[in-house]
Amino acid sequence: MINIIKKFEHDNNVLIGVCDNSILNFKINKKTPFVSYTLAERTNPLLAFDKTKSIIVMATPYGKRLNFVPDNKKRAQISISAAGQDYHTKSRALLEKLMAEINQKTNYKIFVDTGPLNERALAKKAGLGFIGKNCSLITEKFGSFVFLGYALIDIFITPTQPAISGSCGSCNLCIEACPTKALSNNGMDPYICASYLTQSKQEIPERLKKGMHYIYGCDICQNACPKNNGKYISEINNIDLVMPEFKFLKSLTGKQFKEIYGGTAMFWRGKKTIMRNVGILEKNEDIH
Ligand code: SF4
Ligand code: SF4
Repeated sequence: MINIIKKFEHDNNVLIGVCDNSILNFKINKKTPFVSYTLAERTNPLLAFDKTKSIIVMATPYGKRLNFVPDNKKRAQISISAAGQDYHTKSRALLEKLMAEINQKTNYKIFVDTGPLNERALAKKAGLGFIGKNCSLITEKFGSFVFLGYALIDIFITPTQPAISGSCGSCNLCIEACPTKALSNNGMDPYICASYLTQSKQEIPERLKKGMHYIYGCDICQNACPKNNGKYISEINNIDLVMPEFKFLKSLTGKQFKEIYGGTAMFWRGKKTIMRNVGILEKNEDIH
């Protein structure tokens, strides 16, 4: 079994770890935005799938970085994680492919992003990396530029690796770079993180609007992280993918917005909220 998993990991350029079905070591300081599960549901695999014997956790690299300097006066930046095909689709397809290669009469449930269990805690337990001060999973091979997904499976697979005990040490670069002060040595306040703000439909306080530099998501703490240096696979050459012009965005009808962004991770939030963010960025950049 482990040979199949390791071959799949190599052939598909992903990271895969396996852990058992015991309760996750995870505490909630503040309820995660957009997540309605209870602490029990977030930590107990058996509540998500009562036949779970093992959990296969997969980290899929974004693998991309910009090869141009952003021009914030003309263009609106989108998080690299939301550029191109929606990662939910890609990660789920990879996990389904792995389940097919395991090729046994197994029962399983796959979750990508919207599942009940805390994915970072699962990935840490499965030995894929450590949780940095930016509150992201940091892997050795891809840094924090990874999407996480997992499969709960009803066969026992020996856990693959011991947990990695990396750390940030004395580095504080992400905390210093964070434009809304959402990060501190005590963790993250998710309700003032600019990435959350770009997705929230709530009224945003003026002081927080000034920390918004993306129309969807925010990559600032990840870009500041030295653990991400050189961890990309390819460069994004199409500037319009991650930095469409303000005037282009404002010219789009609902139908055109769907045609262009319908397959991306940004689309779920809807044109109205994205256009509100466009307005905030234009004001921040003093664009008239
Ligand atoms: S995503 Fe942006 S706002 Fe959120 S913690 Fe990172 S740097 Fe701060
Ligand atoms: S920037 Fe420094 S402190 Fe922040 S996650 Fe990276 S290594 Fe850790």
